Amino acid sequence: MRPQKRVKVTHVDTGDTTSKAMATPVKQATNRRSSKVKKSELVTGMPNEVFAEIAKYLSPCDLLQLARTSKHCRGILMSKTSRRIWEVSRKTHGLPDCPTDINEPQFADLLFGKGCSFCLASRTLKDPVFGLRVRVCSSCKASRLVSSTDLRKYLQHFSYTVVEEISNILSYTMISSGKNGDYFYLKSQVDDVKQELQALPPNSDERRLYLIEGKKAMRAALGSTIKLELWYSSKRSAEMFTKRDILQERRAKIMDNLKILGFSDEDLDDKFDNKEWKWQYILKKNHPLTEKEWGAIEPKLIQIIELRREHTPPKFHEHRRLERKTEMRSRFVWFRIRLAKSTWLKQLRDEVFWDFPCVKELIEENECRVPVTDERWLPVQKFLVEMDSDHLEREKKG
Ligand SMILES: [Zn+2]
Repeated sequence: MRPQKRVKVTHVDTGDTTSKAMATPVKQATNRRSSKVKKSELVTGMPNEVFAEIAKYLSPCDLLQLARTSKHCRGILMSKTSRRIWEVSRKTHGLPDCPTDINEPQFADLLFGKGCSFCLASRTLKDPVFGLRVRVCSSCKASRLVSSTDLRKYLQHFSYTVVEEISNILSYTMISSGKNGDYFYLKSQVDDVKQELQALPPNSDERRLYLIEGKKAMRAALGSTIKLELWYSSKRSAEMFTKRDILQERRAKIMDNLKILGFSDEDLDDKFDNKEWKWQYILKKNHPLTEKEWGAIEPKLIQIIELRREHTPPKFHEHRRLERKTEMRSRFVWFRIRLAKSTWLKQLRDEVFWDFPCVKELIEENECRVPVTDERWLPVQKFLVEMDSDHLEREKKG
């Protein structure tokens, strides 16, 4: 007995229960004639055995695309005898095991397909809903799924016990939206289970067996969902790291190229850029920098640097001044701690300190470009010591 039927996702007139992604998409085929059609033309005249042998070397994602290219390809790839092709392809490409409640093409579609499993919407929730084996758009989430909060209402004509029985054997999944989240079930599965239970008399052995088997199937499905989600999240993190590496390498290469052209650090700093200059927009791309692309972006970057040179120098100057002041202040604070006995230093106000000519001179040197080093700090320290002893002298004289 198999109480939980796999959801029949009925799409385009495929006539079978395989997901819509398997159907030959008329629109896509005409829009993207080139590569896909050529692939299918290539295999049309091929003996099935040869085709199967070649197909094993393709990834499930490629197989999925190939199945969409023509009726011929789809016929071969969707036949039961092709199961082995999908299996080999999946294992060769290091993908997780196919859950037992869906077939290999459906599994490939779940992992690599695009768009909602129910309608034609191309925008779906960010990740596939592995627990329910679907990808879903927000409107189908509302119409085809039911949350655990709403399940009672959906099954309002049933007793509490029956609702419990039903929810105990349904596959479910957590879907979060913003800070909130809820468990969701597929309405079609709820309906199937509801119907089957209606045919089984309460307290009968048949019903008990049905519920036990159902729970087993649900747990098995949940087990494969957990494995799938783990695999998927580690795949996503790996992709994220790769993306970050590409971004960093690209950025470093662009900066190196510009430095070779003689630009300074401030020329390459977008801190005070006007938003419309779009420096980051040019830098942040998900692909490595090629010679050809460099040729195209170099003039744009130089144009932005020229704008920077025209508009931002006063802001950079002020920024450098603040940096020098911070360096000076941290040395002054330490010095004040060392000379804790000096009442004059303790009472010295900040404005007065910044106004001492030796302090001003150090900060402003070469338009605030020179960091406050030990060596440059010493004259200030000497000056403060002298001021402190003068002060003591004056105090003694009273
Ligand atoms: Zn949809």
